[in-house]
Amino acid sequence: LNYHMTHFMLSAPDIRHLPADVGIEVAFAGRSNAGKSSALNTITNQKGLARTSKTPGRTQLINLFEVVEGKCLVDLPGYGYAQVPEEMKRKWQRSLAEYLQKRQALKGLVVLMDIRHPLKDLDQNMIEWAVQSQIPVLVLLTKADKLASGARKAQLTMVREASLAFNGDVQVEMFSSLKKMGVDIVRKKLDSWFSE
Ligand code: GDP
Repeated sequence: LNYHMTHFMLSAPDIRHLPADVGIEVAFAGRSNAGKSSALNTITNQKGLARTSKTPGRTQLINLFEVVEGKCLVDLPGYGYAQVPEEMKRKWQRSLAEYLQKRQALKGLVVLMDIRHPLKDLDQNMIEWAVQSQIPVLVLLTKADKLASGARKAQLTMVREASLAFNGDVQVEMFSSLKKMGVDIVRKKLDSWFSE
């Protein structure tokens, strides 16, 4: 697929306001500041597609970007803001869980984690929900440029080994928007999910 053609389709305040559950969706999830917006912009080769550096605590929307008709990238709200009230956090988590468990169009989940701080509790929850729903997962260890080559390989090996415990289809790769690392691997994975 030509990801350069991706365009904004709509924003939804929650999963009940998403469009009809048809076609194919691939969702992107991650802690706030993990580099999700940058990754979406890099993958689609469009600087301003997803907004980077959002204000913590601001109302979070689900953004849908259409690659071609019926094939969408879904930018899920970032999780893990320290400043957000507990009640709001629980609401987001329920909403994310519900989306992963119920959405028929969802064919793949990309989970972005800063390579220096991988596999936090909520990251693990996201992967567990996806695996339970038999949705394949691509874990991207973002900002890989922040570590030297030896250290980032060690992190990759560590996360790959830890991910075996999920007992599901979980692939782990390094990624850097800054250095355009891992972009082809992601696009290939998206191609395979979108071609089902
Ligand atoms: P989001 O909150 O997950 O959407 O994260 P953003 O994409 O807004 O990125 C958060 C911060 O990390 C920003 O300051 C980005 O410039 C920075 N960042 C994102 N990707 C990279 C990367 O590949 N390398 C480096 N060094 N910094 C990055």
